[in-house]
Amino acid sequence: MDRQKLYRILLYYKFVPIEDPETFAKEHLKLCQQLDLKGRILVSHEGINGTVSGTVEQTQAYMDVMHQNPLFKDLWFKIDESEGHAFKKMHVRPREELVTFRVDEDLDPNRKTGKYLTPKEFFETMQQEDAIIIDGRNDYEYDIGHFRGAIRPEVQSFREFPDWIRENLSEHKDKKILTYCTGGIRCEKLTAWMLEEGFQDVAQLHGGIVTYGQDEEVKGRLWDGKCYVFDERIAVPINRTSEDIVIGKCYHCGNPADHYINCLNETCDRRHIVCPECMELHRGYCSALCKEEHTSK
Ligand SMILES: [Zn+2]
Ligand SMILES: [Zn+2]
Repeated sequence: MDRQKLYRILLYYKFVPIEDPETFAKEHLKLCQQLDLKGRILVSHEGINGTVSGTVEQTQAYMDVMHQNPLFKDLWFKIDESEGHAFKKMHVRPREELVTFRVDEDLDPNRKTGKYLTPKEFFETMQQEDAIIIDGRNDYEYDIGHFRGAIRPEVQSFREFPDWIRENLSEHKDKKILTYCTGGIRCEKLTAWMLEEGFQDVAQLHGGIVTYGQDEEVKGRLWDGKCYVFDERIAVPINRTSEDIVIGKCYHCGNPADHYINCLNETCDRRHIVCPECMELHRGYCSALCKEEHTSK
């Protein structure tokens, strides 16, 4: 029998003006603590971006409270079932930007952003020959799973995207561009910026990979590997067909694996993929040197 999924993980964002993010964050933290939620929420002048975990009742109460607030009455929660919390603590932090992009243009996705595609539309458009699929995430997220045929961006953080796109994609401004990210928020900004930059035909996967994986029609098809997530699960399955495969490679031996860990030596902290055999052998260290350094302390 399946273990009961009594918990849920919510993922959501909304671009909406919030006048005093500092005060909002303090009050919102109180609300989340009263509801016994755990997770990470960012608040800024441009809106809210969060992911929280709690029991079915707690998360339902949170969604109800949010939907009663005129600012968030249409807030779209992506819901995943879970066997427990996906976070250890509850943080609500005021920030300059919801996703750190640091470009000069004032990008407001409510005014301009790439065309929204449903999972089915995205699935179909991906298969058109002239479509260019750009992964709107970081390289380490791409490495354990991505859409088949998508370009791997050589970026370790979101703010590196403008330079990378200018260097690598400038000659494709007239092409059909498709972008995707985990829950959709990064694409809102990325596609807004690409339109500003002169790209003509830019579309984004609405609701992100998470929504794509839950869609009953596409069932995660054309997704290879797992989806990196920013909570304790680290990676979740997306492709729910027989085509599901492992595409990550063990950092030590190169065998297929998709389990990410950070090097046990905190001064190194290297994020790397490790297979069960190498986990046993290397004990969570990325190198013999790291192991030696750490265990001799
Ligand atoms: Zn290995
Ligand atoms: Zn190391």
